[in-house]
Amino acid sequence: MSQESEERTQGDLTRTGMSLRHDREWDYEMDRILEEIADRGAERVGLQFPEGLKRRGTRVVDDLRQRAPDGVRFMLSGQPCYGACDLDTYLMRRTDLFVHFGHSPMKESDQIVYVPLFSNVDPFPIVEDATAELPEPGGDDAEVGLVTTAQHMNRFEEMVDWLEERGWAVHTRRGDDRLTHEGQVLGCNYASADLPVETVLYVGGGKFHPLGLAMEHPEKHVVIADPVNNVVTVADPDKFMKQRYGAVHRAMDAESWGVIFCTKIGQGRWEVAQDIVASNDDAYLITMDEVTPDRLRNFDVDAFVNTGCPRITTDDGPQFHVPMLTPGEYECAVGDRPLEELSFDTFHGTW
Ligand code: SF4
Repeated sequence: MSQESEERTQGDLTRTGMSLRHDREWDYEMDRILEEIADRGAERVGLQFPEGLKRRGTRVVDDLRQRAPDGVRFMLSGQPCYGACDLDTYLMRRTDLFVHFGHSPMKESDQIVYVPLFSNVDPFPIVEDATAELPEPGGDDAEVGLVTTAQHMNRFEEMVDWLEERGWAVHTRRGDDRLTHEGQVLGCNYASADLPVETVLYVGGGKFHPLGLAMEHPEKHVVIADPVNNVVTVADPDKFMKQRYGAVHRAMDAESWGVIFCTKIGQGRWEVAQDIVASNDDAYLITMDEVTPDRLRNFDVDAFVNTGCPRITTDDGPQFHVPMLTPGEYECAVGDRPLEELSFDTFHGTW
């Protein structure tokens, strides 16, 4: 029997693990969900998981079914989900209670319970390793900004205290209203790193958040402490920026543009899309929810501008059949803005 099927028979999903370099376990907060169901007398409950955890969905339902009152129906969202911007509103409208796993709230709603799935990995060993990349502690220059993702937010205050006890003055701030917590960053919003410091310590997994952070704040030294993969690196956005310059250059000759408006609840920038179409006779508005290379392949245009999630443009850009630009890059490509002003696309506000 595989480890996976052994886990399956145990039925305890409050601490189900995903195997990474460290064993990662998530707290699905079953008790809280059951309390919310009871408080509201909910009979139809929708559950939405991010992509990496969809495979756990049926087992979470099994566990909830065992413990919820008879008659409560659980429904799983099969829609792609990459952020709190990405609520399955179709399913939500058909439920009394909607549980969104893996992200902190982008906008509070009485109908939605957000279960952030905090990581159980101890961040302090890797934060300790990362201190080698910070300014010397104790001196006048011992200042550092601290940011993290939703998964490590539950340890954020401890991280601040840990650094301060060791001689760093730690700067933090809450970004704009797209961000729930002080010190939190999203893949499209690094406003919490707008801090009067030269060095920012990012604690979290993956390379795209800190790369975005470094592109948004090119003047800062961004140190990445990744507790999941147990590595410390310094963000180097040059390769990424070259890729973006390359895309802009290729789009400069475009005679027709597809302007994408994303219909996901937290990814729409209607005004931005409308302004582009209004100012360019060769631009065509395309509305869609999931923006993928396959879905765009049949459109006969020379380049796209994506007004939805910026990460689709920066992370998946090379996979589209023609250049895919952010709105700011589009301005550079059509000559409305000098190429030197090319910057990372960030997304502010909610809906
Ligand atoms: S718009 Fe993209 S980067 Fe921003 S929260 Fe949504 S999925 Fe994440």
